Amino acid sequence: MDNIQIAIIGAGPAGISAALELKKLGYSDLIIFEREDEAGGTPRHCGHLGFGMFEFKRVLSGPNYAKKLSKLASQNGINIQLKSTLTKIEDGVLTFSTPNGIKQYKPTCTLLALGARETPRSDRLVSGTRSPDIITTGALQRFTYLQEIKPFDKAVVIGSEIVSFSALMSAKHAGIKIAAIIEEKSEIDSFCVIKYLVKYLLNIPVITNAKLKNINGEDKKVSSVTIFKDGKEEDIACDGVIFTGKFIPESSIMQKSFKDFNLNNYSLNVTQNFQTNSESFFVAGNALRGALAAFRCYFEGKKVAKNIHDYIRFKHQSQIIEISADENISWYYPSLLDLKSPIKKHLTTLRLKNRAKGVIKILLNGRVVSIKRVHALPFLSINIPWKDIELKVDDKIRLEFVKD
Ligand SMILES: Cc1cc2nc3c(=O)[nH]c(=O)nc-3n(C[C@H](O)[C@H](O)[C@H](O)COP(=O)(O)OP(=O)(O)OC[C@H]3O[C@@H](n4cnc5c(N)ncnc54)[C@H](O)[C@@H]3O)c2cc1C
Repeated sequence: MDNIQIAIIGAGPAGISAALELKKLGYSDLIIFEREDEAGGTPRHCGHLGFGMFEFKRVLSGPNYAKKLSKLASQNGINIQLKSTLTKIEDGVLTFSTPNGIKQYKPTCTLLALGARETPRSDRLVSGTRSPDIITTGALQRFTYLQEIKPFDKAVVIGSEIVSFSALMSAKHAGIKIAAIIEEKSEIDSFCVIKYLVKYLLNIPVITNAKLKNINGEDKKVSSVTIFKDGKEEDIACDGVIFTGKFIPESSIMQKSFKDFNLNNYSLNVTQNFQTNSESFFVAGNALRGALAAFRCYFEGKKVAKNIHDYIRFKHQSQIIEISADENISWYYPSLLDLKSPIKKHLTTLRLKNRAKGVIKILLNGRVVSIKRVHALPFLSINIPWKDIELKVDDKIRLEFVKD
C-alpha cells in the first residue's frame, strides 16, 4: 500500500481543476485516478458546442474541452492514472482495480469528483422487452461521437430536461429520427420556450402528462412504446428508446463506504467547504448533486482545492452541525455547517423536486429564521439568504417547502 498526500478520484472538470489549483498551491504528491482510458470526464462524449466560455473564454465542443483539460493536466505535470476504478473505501484506504491488478493507497486527503449519471431504464421500473436499443443520452453520445455508430433509426426520447435536448442534437448528428418526446409531468422539465422550438422548428411532438407504460418488441428488438395519456393507451412506433436526465451522483461507493449518506442529495453530506463528516474526504462537482454545467464544476474544483489546502496545511479542525430537509427538496448545499469556518450570506442553495409555487422556510430548533417565496423550476437552484445568527453545536437546522 502506498501513502500519498492527495488522491483525486475522477478526471472530469471538477477533478482536473482541483488538481491544477493544488499544483499551484505547491502540492506535487497528488494522483488523479480515472476509470476510463482517457481523461476529461463526461464532456468527452458531448459532441456539441457549449463548453469553456467562462473558464477558457472560448466556445468549445465537449471533446475539445476534455482535450484542453487533459492537456493542461499534462503540461502541469499532474499524474493521471487511467483505467483505475475506485472499488472500495475502508478506514481511509482506497482500493482500485487496474489492468495490473488491485492497488491500494492511503492518502492524507481524498477528493471524490466522480460525476453523475442518468437514471437508466432498469432503475425506472419500465416493463416490456429487454433490448440493447434502450439506452441513455450518455450512451447515445458515446455511440455517436466516440464510436461513430448509429444504434437505431427512429427513437422515442423519455424525459424533457435540458439534457433531453442534447439527446436530440446527438440523434440529429447520427441521422436518427425522433418520433416523440414523452414527459410524465404536466410541463417540460426545462424552459418552456424549448418545447415550442422543438415542436415548431424540429417538428417533433412533445407529449406531456404521458406515462411510458411498456416497451414493445420481440427477440431483443424494439418495435414501439405504449404511453398512457388522458386515460387512454397509445402506441408510438420506434426501434430505439432514449432515457434522458434524472441525473444521480455516481455515489454507490459513497453509500457503501460511509454512514453519513444524504438521501435527498443522494450523496455524502458536505460542509460549506465541501468537506464530509469523515474529515479527510471532500466531494465536488456532479458527485454532489444531479447535473450542473461543466464550468460550475470546474470552478467548484478550484474552490475545494483551497479548502483541501486549509485542511492539510493549517490542520483545519471542523465543528459540525447537520442540516436536514423535507422530501420536496431534491438537493441542497451545504448539508453540514462547519461552525469554525465563515458562513456565507447566501447560506443555502437548493432545488425542488417539481415545478411549484410556495415558500421555503429555514427552521432553527423549530423556529423560522428565514423565509423565501419561490416559483421554483426543478432544474434551477435557489439561494436562500440567512440573517446573522449565532449558532451552537447542538442546534438543529431544517429546510422545508410549503406549497401554495
Ligand atoms: C449529455 C450531456 C450534455 C452536456 N452538455 C453540457 C454543455 O453543453 N455545457 C456544459 O457546461 N455542461 C454540459 N454538461 C454537463 C457537464 O458535462 C458536467 O457538468 C461535468 O462534466 C461534470 O463534471 P464532473 O467533473 O463533476 O464529472 P464528470 O465530468 O462526469 O467526471 C467524473 C469522472 O469520474 C470518473 N469516475 C466515476 N467513478 C469512478 C470510479 N469509481 N473510479 C475512477 N473514476 C471514476 C468518470 O469516469 C468521469 O471521468 C452536459 C452533460 C451531459 C451528460
